[in-house]
Amino acid sequence: MPHYSTAEEFRTRGLRFVRRIHRMRMVGTVLCALPIASVLQERAAGEPFWVLLVLNAFVWPQVADWLCRRSRDPVATEFRCLMLDSAFGGAWIAAMAVSAAPAAVFVTMLIADKIAAGGWGLLWRSSIALGLGFAIAWAALGFPFEPEVSQRTLLACVPFLFVYAVALSVLTHRLGRRIAKQNRELEHLTRTDPIMQLPNRPYFETRAFNELSRFKRSGHLATLLLIDIDHFKAINDCYGHGMGDVVLKRVAELLRSSVRDIDLPARYGGDEFAMLLVDTDANQAMQAAERLRIRISELVFEAEPGLHCSSSIGLAELSKDHDKLDQWIQAADAALYRAKAAGRNRVATA
Ligand code: GH3
Ligand code: MG
Repeated sequence: MPHYSTAEEFRTRGLRFVRRIHRMRMVGTVLCALPIASVLQERAAGEPFWVLLVLNAFVWPQVADWLCRRSRDPVATEFRCLMLDSAFGGAWIAAMAVSAAPAAVFVTMLIADKIAAGGWGLLWRSSIALGLGFAIAWAALGFPFEPEVSQRTLLACVPFLFVYAVALSVLTHRLGRRIAKQNRELEHLTRTDPIMQLPNRPYFETRAFNELSRFKRSGHLATLLLIDIDHFKAINDCYGHGMGDVVLKRVAELLRSSVRDIDLPARYGGDEFAMLLVDTDANQAMQAAERLRIRISELVFEAEPGLHCSSSIGLAELSKDHDKLDQWIQAADAALYRAKAAGRNRVATA
């Protein structure tokens, strides 16, 4: 299904992503600087290394953020910055003469945050960037190789390892919760009539089908009501389409507030509503339908005191003859037709 969003929505989503990565980058670069500084000091590295470390730890996150914010496509720019992060990481591993513990921690974290941010595609590209960053810097520095790690450097890795891993997990968890919430909202939207705020026909039919299956399996009864407003066309013609909508909304409200949690009211289409009464036989459903019919006929409309409406209701209890859902619905529809034919404002049983 095509997904439509405006350029502005697209950019806003992109900037939210940029903000998340910016926070992670600020934490990550500062904490990475600890083991790097430890090794640089042990190796008596020259001033340029220290300048580069300060630039990478404190200036680079701000530059990356600035670049992404002014970009027309913040996400694409952020992906390029993430690849640069990996390239810088690779270069620092070389500058630390492949000191084993920081190298292992850096590679692990650089892999984990790329998967979290952009999946396997980003991981693949940034792994190449990491390899290139490492190879160029290592060759430029004359292939230094001192994998042994001092106690101090080992300890200096701990804050990065702990804080960054926990922050990444918290971020992933939050995103997971947001997606679950959006899925629930989406599910609600796809099964709800937006104007009446009632379940729609496809969802109603799915639930009715489940009841039919349950009846076949375990004999649990259910009864279906089809409720149609009488002479609704005349209401539209006399009072206008807007007032017609008000009538439908009030009926919808009434249905919503009149049922138990296990029952299901729905907008079936036009001026027709449906109700699924679970674990209810025809006699009990008849009483419920009569109550509904009376309450609909008693509706009062402040804007139009002269307006009264009534409804006709067709009722069908599940039976062994109902092999398919259509047969059950047709039984209720036939009953509704009889209620109309008998003069309306009444309940008829299949
Ligand atoms: P009957 O007693 O036989 O049910 O007569 P009726 O006038 O209600 O007949 P019918 O069911 O054919 O007419 C339904 C009308 O409802 C036709 C359509 O224009 C109108 N309608 C359908 N949906 C809406 C809606 O969402 N809002 C409004 N205002 N009118 C609607
Ligand atoms: Mg009608």
